[in-house]
Amino acid sequence: MFIGHFAVGFAAKRAAPKVSLGTLILSVQLLDLLWPIFLVLGIEHVRIDPGNTAFTPLDFYDYPISHSLLTAVGWGALLGIAYFAIRRSSRGAWILTAGVVSHWVLDVLSHRPDMPLVPGMAAYVGLGLWNSVAATMIVEALLFAAGVFLYARTTVALDRTGAGAFWALVGFLVVFWVISIFSPPPPDVKAIGWAGLAIWLFVPWGYWIDRHRRMRETA
Ligand SMILES: [Zn+2]
Repeated sequence: MFIGHFAVGFAAKRAAPKVSLGTLILSVQLLDLLWPIFLVLGIEHVRIDPGNTAFTPLDFYDYPISHSLLTAVGWGALLGIAYFAIRRSSRGAWILTAGVVSHWVLDVLSHRPDMPLVPGMAAYVGLGLWNSVAATMIVEALLFAAGVFLYARTTVALDRTGAGAFWALVGFLVVFWVISIFSPPPPDVKAIGWAGLAIWLFVPWGYWIDRHRRMRETA
């Protein structure tokens, strides 16, 4: 799952108006932001295996630090605690923690049963939406559309950057997502790690958007 996670980040702005969109993106994508770091460091592993599921040529056989339920809750708690220490908002902290865990839940929906519950334990879950490319695209596109719609209704641009930067992100995510679906398997595992690090760019992009938009006043 890729743009579906961003949908949650966009939608969360309504529940946590004071939290920047950049921090919300950091939250919902934290597991995928950590994963390429662990791959590059050789702490976690992935195998290129075309046909692993219809949707992905990757066999996620070892990623218990970034993608287990237990560590997802732990990463979420860390982010929530850090946010509370800086901003003193328990509402924001809880929503950020929930955002991190939402990533795990959406990945369980997508992946075949390769999502670990606890590091070191041979217990994996996954509902396998990725067994169908069409179903994956429909579910993810609908999620994304709903998230973008909510965010666009909840916030309003302060200036042209506020509109341009937001819609550029939406467009870029969709293009990036479609290209990734229809491109051939990556050449090697190292390339996956380095390319994955590019996702970090979306965090400052979120801060940039947030600085140029405000909450829409409701009657
Ligand atoms: Zn993930």
